[in-house]
Amino acid sequence: MDNLQSFHGKKVHGIVITDELLKELSDTGRTQVMTFRDRLGKQFLGHFEYDEGNLNVVREAKHLGQRCPKCGGRILITSKGYFCENCLKEKPTCRFHCNGILSHRFITPEEVDSFLSGHPTIIDGCFNSMGHVFSAVLTENETYGITLSSVVGKCPVCGGDVLVSPVAFNCSSYQKCGEPYHFSIWRHFKGYSLSLKDVHELLTIGKTSGKATLYNAQGHISKAHLKLAHNKNGIIPDYS
Ligand SMILES: [Zn+2]
Ligand SMILES: [Zn+2]
Repeated sequence: MDNLQSFHGKKVHGIVITDELLKELSDTGRTQVMTFRDRLGKQFLGHFEYDEGNLNVVREAKHLGQRCPKCGGRILITSKGYFCENCLKEKPTCRFHCNGILSHRFITPEEVDSFLSGHPTIIDGCFNSMGHVFSAVLTENETYGITLSSVVGKCPVCGGDVLVSPVAFNCSSYQKCGEPYHFSIWRHFKGYSLSLKDVHELLTIGKTSGKATLYNAQGHISKAHLKLAHNKNGIIPDYS
């Protein structure tokens, strides 16, 4: 640790190396997070790391829990959204990213993580260019990368796309079968909020694999699978 002592009293990015910092470095190999200044005087958060005779300043950054689905790199949270670390190198080797704002809606780190883990959640409160509020899920598209789509599956009656709305899941081709919404299920049923997994199961096998906790008008609680009603419009509890 003689080398380390040679940094005593030096000023690095606005931080003077004190005995306390040297002790931290010799004990743990790194310091706590501090506010540094770059050459232009701009502040940034970072810490010192001591490695094989070098005292390095490491800038703080935050990553998503999930890794890049294209190259396995870490995904950084940036001012513009979520970028694979290999997009941000001088010579980028990956293009994977998700913009932080899609259709005027801030996409949270948790929402991107859920999508990448294969358990996407519904994204409410999106606005289109006409100012119309809509709901959607994250999806990946060759041209636009990560984008929003309201399509969550296929209608079991006519095969049309089923779209998520702020309140329900509806078949988009309702005109084809006459009256509005020959297929529609509410997003909330007896106090239970349907997940996308529930909806996929209802659309494909007609029944949820998990049991939902349901409330009646007296506040009594029961647990049941959910299944499509006989006319395939709406859902009913299945206590079997
Ligand atoms: Zn990548
Ligand atoms: Zn339909």
